[in-house]
Amino acid sequence: MSLNTFDTLLVANRGEIACRVMRTARAMGLRTVAVYSDADANARHVREADEAIRLGPAAARESYLKVEAVVEAAQRSGAGAIHPGYGFLSENGAFVEALDQAGIVFVGPPASAIAAMGDKSAAKARMANAGVPLVPGYHGDDQDDALLKAEADKIGYPVLLKASAGGGGKGMRVVESAANFQAALDGCRRESQAAFGDQRMLIEKYLTQPRHVEVQVFCDSLGNGVYLFERDCSVQRRHQKVLEEAPAPGMTAALRREMGEAAMRAAKEIGYVGAGTVEFLLDIDGSFFFMEMNTRLQVEHPVTEMITGQDLVEWQLRVAMGEALPLTQEELTITGHSFEARLYAEDPEQDFLPATGTLTRFAMDLEGAGLDPERVRLDSGVETGDAVSMHYDPMLAKLIVHGNDRAQALATLNRALAALDVQGVVTNRAFLQRLATHPAFRDAELDTRFIEKHEETLF
Ligand code: ADP
Repeated sequence: MSLNTFDTLLVANRGEIACRVMRTARAMGLRTVAVYSDADANARHVREADEAIRLGPAAARESYLKVEAVVEAAQRSGAGAIHPGYGFLSENGAFVEALDQAGIVFVGPPASAIAAMGDKSAAKARMANAGVPLVPGYHGDDQDDALLKAEADKIGYPVLLKASAGGGGKGMRVVESAANFQAALDGCRRESQAAFGDQRMLIEKYLTQPRHVEVQVFCDSLGNGVYLFERDCSVQRRHQKVLEEAPAPGMTAALRREMGEAAMRAAKEIGYVGAGTVEFLLDIDGSFFFMEMNTRLQVEHPVTEMITGQDLVEWQLRVAMGEALPLTQEELTITGHSFEARLYAEDPEQDFLPATGTLTRFAMDLEGAGLDPERVRLDSGVETGDAVSMHYDPMLAKLIVHGNDRAQALATLNRALAALDVQGVVTNRAFLQRLATHPAFRDAELDTRFIEKHEETLF
């Protein structure tokens, strides 16, 4: 067995995830290389790296999304491997192929696995094959208007139209009745064409009160695979996650095993290697349905780290080096409960408009708030004095907490949110506090329309 040893890791990302990946890389004794755009020349991830290489102008497509520039940076810095973080090039098959050609290790799955999950319709066909439950619906190649309408009628309204090539909550539309179908289809196709250059649609039964429950999976290149239990990410705004937790409240051991095993079947079906997440909708009656697989490390991976005591980035790097997974399924256990809150530079009073400016203060006084540093983690890409620009995702940091049980973890989350001191840039902190203190959230009355349902008490 040959190991892909490397001693230098380039992190092809920015913000909190670049800092988080480099933290583990350093702890493993690796040399770290950051890349940056002109807007990030003095960013925290650049300051923390052993070496930093400029990619290009501020626009992501001219810097963080530029395959040749990233490959060249790796060659110039002598990096043997690249961690893509999430977003940017993390699920770009052409990027992975370019690295393969250049003899650089990609810390992630093979290009073929990314391709298998890249298209929602094709992925669903594969999953049906592997015996993974799907939401009743249509994901065929025939895109004739009349046929799609007939399929929607057959599924029964409400249905959800989804762009096959979609992602990030874009290109989706709920259709309440047959009379609205054609107009919704036209609108959805236009949106999908504009966003993804592709008009293909799939149709799903629209579940009215589902929870979003996702399973963390991990596979090595030797054929071993495990699932690291689930996360509940039902609290969403415009299909984007806001608060996440692990484990999912109310799970039975049997359902956990069933969902975990279905997720493993999904991963095995496509020859998966590395960290991946299989997203399911969980209906009120306990039935669950495959939605999609994200072939990368997720934003919310820390809640899984908190309840399992594992470092998922270390797992990723070891798997990339050709090592076997450090633990078997039987050795993995859940301890306590964890929450993650996403802190965004955005203004809840102005329809969550992204905010910019200079952070005159960005700090959290754990001691002053009587918080245990073992139980509170702030993964951030910024520090006091940093500028927040409009060029990238407005997420500033993630606040992650752990407690012996859900109630204790929630109390800690609330104290930590109160201890967070951010000045100079408007954030969603107060909105997060209203969410985390909401009685329905405390009682774990979760479904993907949580924010919508409680609008009056949240805004
Ligand atoms: P994207 O790739 O754009 O994120 P997903 O397919 O992952 O799209 O769906 C995003 C969110 O949309 C889910 O987390 C869930 O809240 C909602 N959703 C997706 N499919 C359905 C469905 N069939 N019924 C109800 N809600 C759905």
